[in-house]
Amino acid sequence: MDLDQEETSPVVGVLEGIRAKVAGLGGGRVADYIPELAHAEPDAFGIAVVSPHGRAYAAGRSEQTFSLQSMSKPFVYAMALEEHGLEVVHEHVGAEPSGEPFNAISLDESGRPENPMINAGAIVTTSLVGDGERGVRSEHIRSVLSTFAGRDLAVDEQVYLSEAETGHRNRALGYLSLSGGVLVGSVEAAVQDYFRQCSVSVTVVDLAVMAGTLASGGVNPVTGERVVSQLTARHTLSIMTSCGMYDRAGEWGLRVGIPAKSGVSGGILAAAPGAFGVGVFSPPLDEAGNSVRGVAALERLSEDYDLHMLRTPARPHSPMHSVTRSGDSLSVLLRGEIDFLAAEQVVSRLAEAVEDTGVTSVTVELERVSGFSEAARSLLAAELEELADAGVGAQVKDPRGVHGS
Ligand code: GLN
Repeated sequence: MDLDQEETSPVVGVLEGIRAKVAGLGGGRVADYIPELAHAEPDAFGIAVVSPHGRAYAAGRSEQTFSLQSMSKPFVYAMALEEHGLEVVHEHVGAEPSGEPFNAISLDESGRPENPMINAGAIVTTSLVGDGERGVRSEHIRSVLSTFAGRDLAVDEQVYLSEAETGHRNRALGYLSLSGGVLVGSVEAAVQDYFRQCSVSVTVVDLAVMAGTLASGGVNPVTGERVVSQLTARHTLSIMTSCGMYDRAGEWGLRVGIPAKSGVSGGILAAAPGAFGVGVFSPPLDEAGNSVRGVAALERLSEDYDLHMLRTPARPHSPMHSVTRSGDSLSVLLRGEIDFLAAEQVVSRLAEAVEDTGVTSVTVELERVSGFSEAARSLLAAELEELADAGVGAQVKDPRGVHGS
């Protein structure tokens, strides 16, 4: 991967500032229920962001590796969606926040895990992917995770063995899901492949690129490769929004408001749609299993740099570059991306001009338009038809064919 990591940039300064603010924060405990994780260094801290243009910025331990753990779940969910579509996946795993810890026995009345971000739902999701044959599926998952990261990722065999030897609760969740009729194939195969996906080794920069791929509608911002469809990316971000932080999902929405997923290794990845992918790492966890300093870092990043996804968006530029009248004719030169909101401004302006000034012909010029959404296209077409019905000559000048009709 040709990663363009910026060394000296004010953005790196921002990340250094966040690191300095959260570094002294105490509290939390390094996970030890998977024995291999207990070796993590409590003071290690790293943070990285990747822009939609594929530029990476990092501070702290940007090269330190740790295991993906539950941060693998959204990506494997995305794989299941690509393979089967939402409706089929939904028959096996729900989409409601459980409000419970990640390892809870959280199955709904029909025996379906509440969502794919808790362990029960993630194990079922893994069982839906590809070929259940030993080795084939886990290699497939590892290779797609690598495409999300834009580099070849490896399984940490020590972490895998450690979890495979001790992960009996996850086996139990697998059997409950099997008895509910939602787990496909053998429980042991699904659980083993789930353990392997959790053991994939990453850095904070990898997390940021993986999150950035979801934030950029399924296209890896660094390699330019499409990994999943735009719809799958949106579905995955939706689940991360409602269920990514376990029983802290609601508070996360209030304080951070960026779709995210945490893992017991101490990593958190967050994907600000259309904007940045973020990765943070700091091993000590709070009672909900989320990194204490990771949560604090993301709260600061969201607050100080205005990344909450529900902030009121800036008023867009007018889509009309110019409106000129000559005699009975009106000419409107549009610019930029025309979405539904922009088209609403254009059609209301056209209707107003015809009503107030009595022009008898209008021309909409599109040479400066970079794109048209489907909704915008039909709104403009409907308005032009209405004008024509009212006896106003209406035409579109579209030398580059962006309007497509
Ligand atoms: N592999 C871990 C487990 O199943 C993942 C849990 C997590 O990261 N929250 O217990």
